[in-house]
Amino acid sequence: MVNGILWRLRTGAPRPHPAFPSDRDPLRLRLAGAALAPAAPEGRAPDRMRPGAETIGAPSCAAASRQVGSYRTRLGGAPAGSFHSLIPTARVGFMADQAPGPGCRPIIAFVGGGASATLTAIALLRATTWLRLPYHVVLLDEHGRHARGVAYSTGDDRHLLNSPAKGMAALPDQPGHLVEWAVRRGLRCGPETFLPRRAYGDYLAETLAETARWAVPHATVEQRTARVVRARGTGDGVVLHLAGGERLTAAAAVVATGNAPPDPLPGPAGLPGVVADPWHPVSGVARLRPRADVLAVGTGLTMADVALTLTAAAPDVVVHAVSRHGMLAHRHRPPLVTPPGLVDLAHADGPLPLRELTRRVRAAIADYPGDWRHVVDSLRPHVPELWQGLSAAEQRLFLARLARYWESARHRMAPEVADRLAALRAAGRLRLHTGRVSELRAGPSGVRAVLGDGGRLDVGTVVNCTGANPGAAPFVRALLDDGLARPNHLGLGVDTCPRGALVTPSGRVSRRLLALGPVRRGQLYETTAIPEIRAQAEQLAQRIADSVLRGRAIEPTVVP
Ligand SMILES: Cc1cc2nc3c(=O)[nH]c(=O)nc-3n(C[C@H](O)[C@H](O)[C@H](O)COP(=O)(O)OP(=O)(O)OC[C@H]3O[C@@H](n4cnc5c(N)ncnc54)[C@H](O)[C@@H]3O)c2cc1C
Repeated sequence: MVNGILWRLRTGAPRPHPAFPSDRDPLRLRLAGAALAPAAPEGRAPDRMRPGAETIGAPSCAAASRQVGSYRTRLGGAPAGSFHSLIPTARVGFMADQAPGPGCRPIIAFVGGGASATLTAIALLRATTWLRLPYHVVLLDEHGRHARGVAYSTGDDRHLLNSPAKGMAALPDQPGHLVEWAVRRGLRCGPETFLPRRAYGDYLAETLAETARWAVPHATVEQRTARVVRARGTGDGVVLHLAGGERLTAAAAVVATGNAPPDPLPGPAGLPGVVADPWHPVSGVARLRPRADVLAVGTGLTMADVALTLTAAAPDVVVHAVSRHGMLAHRHRPPLVTPPGLVDLAHADGPLPLRELTRRVRAAIADYPGDWRHVVDSLRPHVPELWQGLSAAEQRLFLARLARYWESARHRMAPEVADRLAALRAAGRLRLHTGRVSELRAGPSGVRAVLGDGGRLDVGTVVNCTGANPGAAPFVRALLDDGLARPNHLGLGVDTCPRGALVTPSGRVSRRLLALGPVRRGQLYETTAIPEIRAQAEQLAQRIADSVLRGRAIEPTVVP
């Protein structure tokens, strides 16, 4: 507290948030100092508003508008009509205690309020606070799962993160941030701990709240429970249509709709006893108390969660799990290290063809004296580049033949989860089957599942654990229908520029509609786990700050 006051007396600015990287502070403080210059009387441009100066001081939003308007008139430009139109021409700073009201700030809206939106909002606040850029962040989530989204809103503490705490920090420059938070919260946590996902949701929520507190009054954050049904471009912004008829005009909107429910299972829609979306807050597995056996369709990480929850909720039921290969995700094996460069990826003649890449990965695993997991993990940072180097035919081949092996090796279970599943299998409470469900229909105990080989399974409940389909989110479909986005050629989400701007069917790069997370899967392949989302969030935040809040042109406006 005392340190904070001393800092403010010395610098005229609030003390830097501990979450801000110290190497950027001098730049930020210099700008903050300029922004806090004494304001000139209304109607007269302050000294700092000479040509070439980047920041001004102003006692209020309206005064800033008038001052910059008169400044531009004297320079021969047209008077500025609104505050929004000033932002591209000047960075405007405000005295900390004389901030503008939310009404005249540009809005940065997020469609979806989960981890992707939260990490981007945190990155944006951190990147812009010391520039004193005024804006208002609105996180719109249809189920009010702010910060938590689908993955981290579970209330079941048997659901653990599938990555150790050391890789899950929200702040890229502070890898120990999550571990420190967890220890402060009294959780037993070290770098290699697999925390409950519920705790991680709390962590994201608290980190956003703390960062937002430091950004006030320049930038403010609002979380709203609302479903966005459509977007309309307006030239200098985006109008979001909310369910219920309300409209929200934003300077930019970020598509963070995340893990849309899986594709429907074969069988009549709405068949009683079929859980179409295991993570739905009302009709998902959280409230399910099965009285008869359960069939999970899919044997990946979602099935693992469902089996843990339902065997605990109903001590007598058996969970059957079926997939074409009946493969469970592999388990993590400590120590969790990622040595770099275990696969030779050099290729003289352009990108590595899939066949050669597969051969080299197999050879690297065979030659490596340590755990094969290290080889898989060492590939992770290179996946987007390798993926984009494949032809469309190779990408399809990978999805059809190899993806399931990659997924089970790359997205692994926490050791505790693997142990619990092994115990359930040993006790006969979890049974794995190989096959394809060809039809679901009403059956004697609730639902009858017909398998591809003609086999049948009678259960009380069927849970769709086949995994999210990012392109199936209704809002994403509306963007495609309205020509505001272009479907990825594999049908996995939408096309985006390298820094996340949506691309329209004609190849135009949107300045106002951006995206991150699972919806970019077709383009990047690995885009769902926190480390990848965190990196995208940083890039997107920088893009919003540069292109939307400061009006700089930063990318080609048309792509092939
Ligand atoms: C069960 C599960 C466990 C995972 N565990 C891990 C892990 O341990 N480690 C790891 O690194 N990664 C993990 N992941 C992957 C990754 O962290 C998640 O995919 C990540 O949470 C994605 O966040 P998101 O915000 O993009 O999507 P989501 O979490 O899906 O959140 C999107 C939110 O947007 C809302 N929404 C959608 N459409 C609209 C609309 N039109 N209007 C308003 N709101 C809307 C949704 O209801 C949802 O709340 C896990 C994923 C899942 C599904």
